[in-house]
Amino acid sequence: MPGAPTPAWDDEYDVVVAGSGAGALTGALTAAAGGLRTVVLEKTALLGGTSAYSGAAVWLPGTQVQRRAGIGDSTESARVYLTALLGEAEADRREAFLATAPEVAEFLERDPAIEFESRAFPDYFPAPGRLDAGRSFVPLDLPAERLGDLAALVRPPVDRDRDGRGHGEGPLSAGRALIGRLLLAFVNTGNGAVRTGAALTRLVVEDGRVTGVEAATATGAVRLRAREGVLLAAGGFEGDAKMRAAHGVPGTAEWSMAPAGANTGDPIRAAAAIGAATGLMGEAWWCPGVALPDGRAAFTLGFHGGLMVDASGRRFANESLPYDRMGREMIAEPGRMPAHLIFDSRFGGRLPAISLPGRRAEEHLEAGTWVRAGTLEELAELIGVPREALRHTVERFNGFAATGVDEDFHRGEDPYDRFFAGQSEAPNPCLVPLDTPPYYAARVVLSDLGTKGGLRTDPDGRVLTGDGRPIPGLYAAGNTSASFSGRRYPGPGVPIGSAMVFAYRAVKDMAR
Ligand code: FAD
Repeated sequence: MPGAPTPAWDDEYDVVVAGSGAGALTGALTAAAGGLRTVVLEKTALLGGTSAYSGAAVWLPGTQVQRRAGIGDSTESARVYLTALLGEAEADRREAFLATAPEVAEFLERDPAIEFESRAFPDYFPAPGRLDAGRSFVPLDLPAERLGDLAALVRPPVDRDRDGRGHGEGPLSAGRALIGRLLLAFVNTGNGAVRTGAALTRLVVEDGRVTGVEAATATGAVRLRAREGVLLAAGGFEGDAKMRAAHGVPGTAEWSMAPAGANTGDPIRAAAAIGAATGLMGEAWWCPGVALPDGRAAFTLGFHGGLMVDASGRRFANESLPYDRMGREMIAEPGRMPAHLIFDSRFGGRLPAISLPGRRAEEHLEAGTWVRAGTLEELAELIGVPREALRHTVERFNGFAATGVDEDFHRGEDPYDRFFAGQSEAPNPCLVPLDTPPYYAARVVLSDLGTKGGLRTDPDGRVLTGDGRPIPGLYAAGNTSASFSGRRYPGPGVPIGSAMVFAYRAVKDMAR
């Protein structure tokens, strides 16, 4: 097991955590609250990664947060749901997740800095055990004053961050509130240190055990000892074009939603270099991405109007599908990309969907990422799809809107579809006719919320070798690890919820 040469340590800790997303900070807090001296290493200048951009929905079944909200959920019904979706693959990790989810929520809320509330959001698949009220909760907003100077370290919302505009006024909300609250709790333990601008590059191995890390900083490489263990929770490799190509991950680094330059797979490579196994490497948490004028993409969900067509000018799926399922439809067959969202002027020139970051119609029209035309035929010319096909698609769709039944893709029949639909007298509020010119077409590419393939781990987050043995001292969680949910995205908050649970279990294992 070759690692970096045996070091003279620059600093010593009990636990070294690489990354500062929700999983990393949950692990760090668990360690520090348990009396372990812990350091969080963050490669960029800001904390929180994609977790800070997120809606901070945390999918943890059977918790006190749901009980408070009067939601009848249980570990058992979540087991039925996950088993229906995932089968028996990864059953041991699924059971570990289910058994520990309530404990994690309880542990976190015991800290005065952390408070959650239930948020209704349907699970993503019609399967036994599904809960339409959802199993996720979100953090309460956090007044910036409570964080003091630390507030400036939390990554701002995606639109402001991409423009370099900082946080703006008001409390930290959603992903920023989650990161802010975990950070506050961590720092308040008195056992926690945070180093930004410190990128883990190598793992130090002594006598077959990972005993520390090497990190690149502005002032050179540092070597940090980890007496109890190293937790790698530093995102996936969505931002690394070469690694994506090597593993055949569809989409591009530019279209991914992770902060620019952040998640480039360094910890996965460092662990692989000492014999760690990887899995699910072609996978990501997918989503449709509205193409942006700057060449990047915007995570788009909750379509409440319009329809999507492929290069032949035909619909290919229920546009209201949960975003990961829609992303998978986009790559299910060649010729579906670039797709276009066709919509009319009833939305006042705004996209009939939630899109982050949002850009004004004028910016899109100027850049050509959207086009506008007085007739559907002219619109078809502008996006290069057959005129007749587009006209026929819209006519057929408008017929469905009149009857309320989408005979082709059943849009509006699922509670998730209706969750985002506008108020309407129409027979099916998810089927909104397109009849108000001018018409718009927005280019839609395949985006992702991060890759979900990575290091193979056991139920305690221990990183495994190719022959299934744990590497002593080395743990992984979040998108650095291969997800227990395989090729499915079961419900809102699974990426963050599972990152938090497995980071928590990893640190509990270190402390044993
Ligand atoms: P991240 O949160 O991206 O954190 C990784 C961190 O590690 C980054 O800060 C990065 O800079 C750092 N890092 C990388 N390399 C190194 C290194 N070598 N050394 C040190 N640090 C390093 N998921 C949900 O579950 N619920 C939601 O509500 C939700 N909403 C979303 C909304 C949006 C707009 C987006 C974009 C995503 C959303 N997601 C949501 C997806 C979710 O945010 C991510 O999949 C998840 O946060 C990834 O967590 P992570 O800890 O693996 O990585």
